[in-house]
Amino acid sequence: MNQPPNPSAPDGAILHDEIVGPGKPWSRVIRTGEVLRLVDLEGTQAVDFLCYNADNPVERYNAGDTMKVSGKLFLTKDTRIMSGLGRVMFTVIADSCGFHDTIAGCCSGESNRLRYGLWPTPNCRDNFLEGLKPFGLGMRDIVANINFFMYVPVGADGAMAIADGKSKAGDYVDLRAEMDVLAVVSNCPQMNNPANGYNLTPIRATVWRPN
Ligand SMILES: [Zn+2]
Repeated sequence: MNQPPNPSAPDGAILHDEIVGPGKPWSRVIRTGEVLRLVDLEGTQAVDFLCYNADNPVERYNAGDTMKVSGKLFLTKDTRIMSGLGRVMFTVIADSCGFHDTIAGCCSGESNRLRYGLWPTPNCRDNFLEGLKPFGLGMRDIVANINFFMYVPVGADGAMAIADGKSKAGDYVDLRAEMDVLAVVSNCPQMNNPANGYNLTPIRATVWRPN
């Protein structure tokens, strides 16, 4: 069963602890063995996520391989987040939500214009670009991403859509780095579909080194 929300205190030295405001980006290198906890503080807040080998960024998150290795569309506890070079980047060591999307990708200005007729709009791809820039990475480095706390069910007929989020206030996911990883987060600013419950809220990002 999933664990209840509101996680126990980190079991080690806290290296970083930050509230990421509604619609904002965040990025940091997580060293091997460190744990990154993302908390959906108020519930139904999508957190778009990319990761790269910090020493060799051409090695990066691979959605298809992550799904094939886990045999699931949704990330949850014990899922190994895979690179395209067949290595584990993060292991999901705790998860109170159970539904983290691997297929719907991030919102962009162009997709918002296409789908909703709006231009310009705040969007996750711009946030990714902002988070990547300090590390010398950019548009060519953006691939299919994870959406923590976002629910995208797929029907037997292949129908899919962003559905009402299932995350509750305090839901969290703990990711243990299995290599030195650059993690890039967009606290999604989307207001035109149910990804964020039509209410943008803060998240918390905590990094610690376990005892
Ligand atoms: Zn978004």
